[in-house]
Amino acid sequence: MKLTVLGATGSIGVSTLDVVARHPDRFEVAALTGHSQVEVLAAQCRKFHPAYAVMGSATDAQRLALLLKDAGLRTEVLHGAEALVQVASLPEVDAVMAAIVGAAGLPPTLAAARAGKRVLLANKEALVMAGAVFMAEVRRAGALLLPIDSEHNAVFQSMPHNYAGDMAHGGVRRILLTASGGPFRTTPLDVLARVTPEQAVAHPNWSMGRKISVDSATMMNKGLEVIEAHWLFNAPADRIEVVIHPQSVIHSLVDYEDGSVLAQLGNPDMRTPIAHALAWPERIDSGVAALDLFAVAQLDFERPDPKRFPCLDLGYRALRAAGNAAAVLNAANEVAVAAFLERRLSFLGIADLIAATLDAVPHAAVPDLAAVLEANRQGRAAALDLLDRSGARSA
Ligand code: NAD
Ligand code: MG
Repeated sequence: MKLTVLGATGSIGVSTLDVVARHPDRFEVAALTGHSQVEVLAAQCRKFHPAYAVMGSATDAQRLALLLKDAGLRTEVLHGAEALVQVASLPEVDAVMAAIVGAAGLPPTLAAARAGKRVLLANKEALVMAGAVFMAEVRRAGALLLPIDSEHNAVFQSMPHNYAGDMAHGGVRRILLTASGGPFRTTPLDVLARVTPEQAVAHPNWSMGRKISVDSATMMNKGLEVIEAHWLFNAPADRIEVVIHPQSVIHSLVDYEDGSVLAQLGNPDMRTPIAHALAWPERIDSGVAALDLFAVAQLDFERPDPKRFPCLDLGYRALRAAGNAAAVLNAANEVAVAAFLERRLSFLGIADLIAATLDAVPHAAVPDLAAVLEANRQGRAAALDLLDRSGARSA
């Protein structure tokens, strides 16, 4: 199977290449992309010999090309957004790992769907922003969409065989998404106002990129995942519930009409859903250790507290509002998280800024990619404007 890895230098990209390297007989790397980490991408090219490598800027592409030439490689080095779309839709490529973080990942991920590839979807923001447009392209092109997000991968594994988007027909009552609760699950509420980016990105169970780590701390990650589940499984908002499960061993559950509840369990390591989606419907070694239930010993569950995690309700609000709301939500969240990481916004300010942005941008339909990108632009502009006017500035 020939593979393009979008976002190869990130946390999911590195885990993907780890699984790929365990199966040289099965997988061949056609293209790798990274935004700015020239040395990391160069090392990956030396190991996997892709035909194409893509960097963000022309300068970084030149540096990469020199390194690869010195190594005697014939990898063609490209750069920029158009090149991402190109390597996501190469005719010789069978599968595309969509592991770019944020809105920047939407055009190439959508291109992979349009080209009818096996799309391994880690880039949840693409589906949150453009759910209707994205799913329509998947159906039109006959692409195979397999979720990498651990919760959605667990739901996929627990759904009826050949599930085609009809919960009633499959006897499915509810989808239960588990959430770890992140690093601030038990932090006193008055302390939350002063938590730092360093504390927010230190996740108790998962090692991930900085943006998704902050999303996990606010639980906006789960808000985005509720929207993601809606599109992947054609599930209405009131059939998707969130359960806090601090051990992160149950990755999600499906509740059936007859009272059966099916779940997928495992150690919290993204190589499991990655290996599942790479090999589906077969099973391959992922490098993840067998689950030791005696070491786990205990599984706990809690109801999310809306006062502690207002971002979760914002996710439901955007899903129910439909139209451009989820794209605006995602854009506001990207602005808010970047501002928090730059210490221009407090932790509790993240939810406030997203809510104010949802209030500020008028509702609109999003019939096509252009409308989605316009909603993203409006959401970013409104959030940046609110951020400036709130007096938030660098210390
Ligand atoms: P990361 O920050 O570690 O990596 C992001 C990758 O995207 C890097 O390769 C980077 O070079 C690239 N990138 C960043 N900005 C870009 C831009 N403007 N243009 C092109 N490329 C760009 O992030 P991650 O943790 O690997 O997450 C990637 C995606 O997977 C996110 O959408 C995240 O929500 C999702 N996801 C991650 C995990 C996880 O465990 N890390 C779990 C579930 C879902
Ligand atoms: Mg997840």
